[in-house]
Amino acid sequence: MTTVPPPDRAGPGAARASSAAAALEVLTDRSLDPIVEMVLTVRAGAYEAHSADGWVRFARHVEGPGWRYEVLDGAGRNPLATQDSSRFAGADAEAAARYPSRSANSYPHAYEQVVQFFEAPMAPDLCVVHSAAHNYEDRGGHRGEHGSLDVVQARAPFVLAGRGVRADGLVDRSCRLVDVAPTLARLLGMAHRPGRGLNGLHRADAYLARQDGHPLSDLLVDDDRPRHVVGFLLDGCNPNTLYRLAGSGRAPNVARLMAMGTAFRHGAMAGMPTVTLANHTSLITGALPGHHRILHNAWWDRHSGEVVTTNSPATWPTAMTRLAPGIETIFEAIRAAEPDAFTAAVNEPADRGAVFSTFDFFRRGDIPPFPQPEDLPHVTMRFAGPLGDYRFNTMIDHMATEQAVGLWRGSYRGVDYPAPRFCWVSFQLTDCGMHAGGPRSEVAEAAIADTDGRVGEILDAIERAGALADTAFVLLADHGMEETDPATTGDWDAALAEAGVAFRDEGHGFVYLDPQA
Ligand SMILES: [Zn+2]
Repeated sequence: MTTVPPPDRAGPGAARASSAAAALEVLTDRSLDPIVEMVLTVRAGAYEAHSADGWVRFARHVEGPGWRYEVLDGAGRNPLATQDSSRFAGADAEAAARYPSRSANSYPHAYEQVVQFFEAPMAPDLCVVHSAAHNYEDRGGHRGEHGSLDVVQARAPFVLAGRGVRADGLVDRSCRLVDVAPTLARLLGMAHRPGRGLNGLHRADAYLARQDGHPLSDLLVDDDRPRHVVGFLLDGCNPNTLYRLAGSGRAPNVARLMAMGTAFRHGAMAGMPTVTLANHTSLITGALPGHHRILHNAWWDRHSGEVVTTNSPATWPTAMTRLAPGIETIFEAIRAAEPDAFTAAVNEPADRGAVFSTFDFFRRGDIPPFPQPEDLPHVTMRFAGPLGDYRFNTMIDHMATEQAVGLWRGSYRGVDYPAPRFCWVSFQLTDCGMHAGGPRSEVAEAAIADTDGRVGEILDAIERAGALADTAFVLLADHGMEETDPATTGDWDAALAEAGVAFRDEGHGFVYLDPQA
């Protein structure tokens, strides 16, 4: 049995031990219980999770390409004990359990989530995981939120369909987002090669250089491989709502894909933190956020004293320059196997190695045209009419659709393109709609319906290109979305400051202690 301690730099360490103890006492006080689900940290060579009603301390041991976890100590209720991926699956189950308490909630792959998180050198001393109900007033009081370890915020939809895929319909099963890239690599007929696994050790059966996930081989039909693979990422899309709308006829193109393949009712779990760019990157690399190191939307670099922001329109085009050494994107892996393959990353910031990328236009300062929503199909004008996020994201997603349709037609803005071997299209509107109203709101449903129309346009373009029967599809999201309680507001920073703890809090919940030291 090989026990591997956390990396040296993880957690507060001896120098900040007393600050950590003081901060934990504040954060796990009953007064913060409504908004603080738990606090994650590393102390004295092991991992810990603390909450108002109990704590756990655990270690990791090498097992195959991954880890086995051993609980070393604890008291009260173990905050990580419940890891059921099926909890709150189905629209009715989720609607009946709004704002679940810690003891009603579930945290799939919780030990793995904590361990991978603290592998990143920019991980904070303490990671505050907010409660299911918590409404960040200072982020606009969103009625839908994500970022937590809990099952609804981690759960993305997962639909795999088309040529080479079993058509089993909606099944009671889940996977992780890091399983997607190896699954698509296998679907593309790529061969195994040596790489590194979840525990960082050599594995002979990898498809990507750093591969934390596993291919879902049993979903694939033996020896039947598609010529093309197309991915649709619906940012922040709650799967219970998506599947419900597919069933009710409001998302007919999603329903069409589901009928052509297999969908997981229990979803695909995002890595911690369950935020956008961290998990776009996990989808594209097969590595968890702590390993590819696009750890969050923002973090603090203790060495340089800088705040690093990755997930803003200004920083998206260059975010991938921060990928950790030894990480490979699926675009790069495809080109390594097939040097002539044409790959496309449409509106996808995690685009390194793609032959065509929307973000190349931005990096060149050659901004594609953004038509006004009034002139476009698949637009719910009730929400896209007023100035605001819905309108802006409608314009972005339309541009993405226009690009993908152009690629399948063979030309976009005067340049000719071959049919893509691999084409990945990211849509943003779903995240916007679900934040605005929560996952079961009218605005969330409108965002899905509009996006479904855009998916349909791209499916039609693939059909016109004569490639539909020779294409496999994946449709998913980067994380889930949970309804917040407008009455459950506030933050933990005031309580920490009042207790005299020296800290800085980045990206809501990344707490770095003694920042002046
Ligand atoms: Zn979001």
